[in-house]
Amino acid sequence: MWAMLLDYDASVIEAVKRVYGDLYKAFLDALSRPGSRMYARVNTLRVTVGEVIDSLRARGISAFQDEELSEAIYFPVEGPFNIELHNYDKVVVADKYAAESVYLGSNLYIPGVIRCPNTVRSGDEVTIVTVQGLPIAKGISMINCRDVKHLRKGIAVEVVRSIYRAPKIIELPEYRAGLIYPQSLAAMYAVRVLDPRPKELVVDTCAAPGGKTGHIIEYSMGEAFVIAFDYSKRRLEEMKSEIERLKHTPFIEIWRADSRYLHIDFSWIRADKIIVDPPCTSLGVRPKLYDMKRYSDIVAASKYQIQFLRSASKILKVGGIIVYSTCTITIEENEEIIESIIKEDRCLKLVDIEFKRGSRGILTPHSYAYMRFHPHIHDTTGYFIAKLMKTC
Ligand code: SAH
Repeated sequence: MWAMLLDYDASVIEAVKRVYGDLYKAFLDALSRPGSRMYARVNTLRVTVGEVIDSLRARGISAFQDEELSEAIYFPVEGPFNIELHNYDKVVVADKYAAESVYLGSNLYIPGVIRCPNTVRSGDEVTIVTVQGLPIAKGISMINCRDVKHLRKGIAVEVVRSIYRAPKIIELPEYRAGLIYPQSLAAMYAVRVLDPRPKELVVDTCAAPGGKTGHIIEYSMGEAFVIAFDYSKRRLEEMKSEIERLKHTPFIEIWRADSRYLHIDFSWIRADKIIVDPPCTSLGVRPKLYDMKRYSDIVAASKYQIQFLRSASKILKVGGIIVYSTCTITIEENEEIIESIIKEDRCLKLVDIEFKRGSRGILTPHSYAYMRFHPHIHDTTGYFIAKLMKTC
């Protein structure tokens, strides 16, 4: 009933099939569902995992520590539940971003409302649907829709029942106090693989909104020197407020730059460790209610990705480490990027990744050295991680 609407051109589907063969439908199907756990990272600079879990449980919220990553906690996701549309006058349409949160039980906020009929009054029971008309949740309107044009922020619909249900992380007091940060488990492995240590100079080339940067700060106990770059002003603003919420401001420099040219604009940097987490086609991100991708998106992303790595390698110390990560699954944006950079730059060598979770890479000479997560197999986001060392 809630089958995902995928608008992928034939070449994107081919790229997915190169990775998953006959299992590509199982992969696409998994994208339409959330994983069975929703993860958050505990800000271990300020609180212990036990304290956070105790305070959540004291309010009746189930939360558990991850089996391998000690800073990770998870909330079980319940569902799917059936949501039916009865009253066609009381339908509120949410944009894609908002709909994907509402699908998991978040409230619908005013900026995410695309359409809200004048007949809806504050206190009415409404159904929230996607742009394609798929019902995803029921709730109580907090606004008179007639006024929606004049409202900027706040809750539009308080969700009572949704297809899936997980705690509304950004409404938890632990979130507001900067004690937790919602992040997928797979993404947390990127910083674990980087292993940033006190006193090291660590650069995050594509940092905003700062998920991995915050993890670098916490994991190195606030004792690494961290420089975070991003090009987007809007995302840098978002990152600054995240960093303030987490109280990480003293531990980090945030600079705006085009990270394809760090070796020119910041040629003095000699980093011990660099994380390259570039823009990608995000094919591994779940749950998705709908999505559109063209093969040209894969090509465009891959052209940027290799440039970030070229520049990163020039501002890295000899003996330094680069971790490259993406939340997509195409070979073009993952294995092939790394295979090209190591062919081009004879000083960069692959380093094996030694975590138990996930599986190895695919179809390339150095597949054994990569870490991959597959949504339908590992119950995570689709993810790729590679680790490189500069040897000369
Ligand atoms: N690492 C982040 C997510 C990064 S998403 C986290 O863990 O939270 C990719 C980021 O790359 C986006 O914020 C985007 O603004 C940034 N980006 C895109 N092009 C860039 C460029 N040329 N230089 C620097 N950053 C860029």
